[in-house]
Amino acid sequence: MEVDNIRKFLAANYSDEKLAALLAHAESGRLGWNSCCCVVGIATATHALQTATTFGEMRVSCPGDSHLEDARRLPYAAEAENEFLHIAWSDAGRREQLLPVIREEMERREQDRVIGSSGDRVIEHQELLAASY
Ligand SMILES: [Zn+2]
Repeated sequence: MEVDNIRKFLAANYSDEKLAALLAHAESGRLGWNSCCCVVGIATATHALQTATTFGEMRVSCPGDSHLEDARRLPYAAEAENEFLHIAWSDAGRREQLLPVIREEMERREQDRVIGSSGDRVIEHQELLAASY
């Protein structure tokens, strides 16, 4: 299953805080495709995360609805949104696929902190991302 772009999107655009919020949202069973709080929109969410609606209903919108548009302009956003749609046929399946990816990203950050918290490390990582793209 392709989750490379989701992985890159998380690494490039999620703060530690947002990543924790994404994990909680997925674990609680509220994360889904049909919401401004999908895997892409949460990166820039300005409000409490919303439960996804079922397919066929309108996407949940939020005041101004601008944060999802902002999120879509971030690196890897279009690719990640597309992957999130296609990794499973249901939101339950999407959460199942996504959970290990979120946990991997958290572990990777934890290891980065252990190895060294210097600025060099950040640059190194960005080069790594660029090289793997
Ligand atoms: Zn929203």
